[in-house]
Formats: sequence, structure tokens, C-alpha cells
Amino acid sequence: MFFLEELGVEPNLYIWTVRTLRELGLKPSRRLGQSFTVNPAILRDFAGLCSNLSRDRCVEIGTGLGVVTYILSKCCRRVISIEKDPRLYEFSRKLLSRYSNIEIIHGDALELLHKLEPKTVAGTVPYSITGPLLGAIASSTAEKVAIVLQKDVVDRLLAKHGSRRYGSITVLMQTFFKIHKVNVYPPKYFYPEPEVSSAMVEMTRVREVPNNMEEYEKFLKCLFSYRRKTLRNALARCCRRVDEDIYSFLDSSKRVFHLPPEDILDIFRRCI
Ligand code: SAH
Repeated sequence: MFFLEELGVEPNLYIWTVRTLRELGLKPSRRLGQSFTVNPAILRDFAGLCSNLSRDRCVEIGTGLGVVTYILSKCCRRVISIEKDPRLYEFSRKLLSRYSNIEIIHGDALELLHKLEPKTVAGTVPYSITGPLLGAIASSTAEKVAIVLQKDVVDRLLAKHGSRRYGSITVLMQTFFKIHKVNVYPPKYFYPEPEVSSAMVEMTRVREVPNNMEEYEKFLKCLFSYRRKTLRNALARCCRRVDEDIYSFLDSSKRVFHLPPEDILDIFRRCI
């Protein structure tokens, strides 16, 4: 691919990745979710979303060896990429130093994301932090998100109410984003291979972050710890006081997991 040649990465991304890691003496860390993109199809899919992302600054989670960073730098006016591993930070900073619209930051994405006030969040993210990262993205200023996650998690984000996978993370993300699955990737598209398939998801914000976001997250966690209980039973445990009006339009004997996100948000606003 033309862009990998410009970067000095030889045509075969897999060979380049394995060799570079070996030269760096870097054994990929599972704890840091290090699985590097070795199939250009993923890069092509990011490039395909370019026109949706190009407004303003992009924040990338998990620079790795910098190949996704490079693609994003062709899409976004400015890319700020966060990498926790000091060796990968040093390497990618050198590799990408000639691109003036790329800035690599050494640190923890979970701590830095909010401070960077992103408009766009992108990347093939470390699977070790998917849960908290989605929460951080939801409560951030991000309006557009294009990330690669475990396919199983993407399926949960897209789950319909009443289904097995429908849970608190589904409701949280569906409350704030329109969600679209872009593509699915087998484990062999990464090195080392993760245990599960992956998928790219594109999310567009449809609702601003409320002041009481933390309470909403807590409420969802509480509610879904009683996912098979009736609404009345669950609310007795998750709200101090319930505005009884809600039962005029919601059946109190409905189970929690049967309620669509709009109803759950409505209930949250009426429970004190
Ligand atoms: N985007 C690259 C790397 C994916 S692997 C690629 O597609 O090839 C995930 C990367 O996230 C690794 O480089 C890992 O070191 C980094 N990482 C792990 N935890 C992180 C955290 N909390 N904050 C920022 N980066 C992190």
C-alpha cells in the first residue's frame, strides 16, 4: 500500500511488525493488550472513514508501532496519540517525527482522554481496558468514534433490548451514540493473534453528556445487576424514591432487560 511505503514500512506489514518488535527486543505484553495490526484491510477501513473524522483533532488510543496513527494523520487535521509503553512511545515518536500534525503522548489513555477534550476518538485499542475506555469515551467530549474492539463487545454495543447480550454497557453507549458496525476481522489480522475476533465500530454522538453522568452510570450498573427482575423490584433497589407516574406509561412487571434505552433514560430522570 502506498502509504506504508512512504513510512518506510516494507510492503509486508506482518513481516515488518515481527521484525521491528524483535529489533526492539519487545515481547508483546498481554497485560497492555498488545496485538498489532498486521493486515492492511484494517488500515483501509480507517481510511474509508476519513471524511467522517476529518473535523478537528483526533485522539488515538494505543499508538503501538504507529501505523494506525499514520493513517489517521492523513484524515485528521491533527492527531494526538496516547501510548502507555515507553518503548513503543519512543519508537513511534521517531518513526513519525517528520509528520508535523502528529503528536505522541506517553501516558495512560484512561487518565488523559478527558483532559485532551477530543472531538474524535480512534484506534485499535488495547482490549485489556475496553470496559473502562468505553465509559471514558461516553463521558468525554467525543462526537465521533472509530475504534476496533473485541467483536463480542461490539455485538453487545449493538444488542437489542430483550436479547441475551443487552446490558448496562449497551444502554450506556446507545443512550449517547448512534452505533454502526463497519467490519469484522479474524484474529490473524493481528500479531500476536488475540483469542477472539475483532470488529471496527463507528459511533456518532446523539446526546450531550449530562451533569449527572456518574449517577447515570451507577444507576445502569445497579439496574442491570437485576436484569431479570421486574422494573418495580429493580427500582426499589436502585432509586431512593420513584416517581409513581412512570408506571402510568411503563408496565411495572416488565423485566429490566426488556426496556429500550429511551425508557431507561426516562426512568432515571424520574428516580431520585
Ligand atoms: N494501534 C496499534 C497498537 C494496538 S495494541 C496497532 O493497531 O498496531 C494496543 C496498544 O495500546 C499497545 O501499543 C499498548 O501498549 C497500548 N496501551 C495499552 N494500555 C494503554 C493505556 N492504558 N493507554 C494508552 N495506551 C495503552
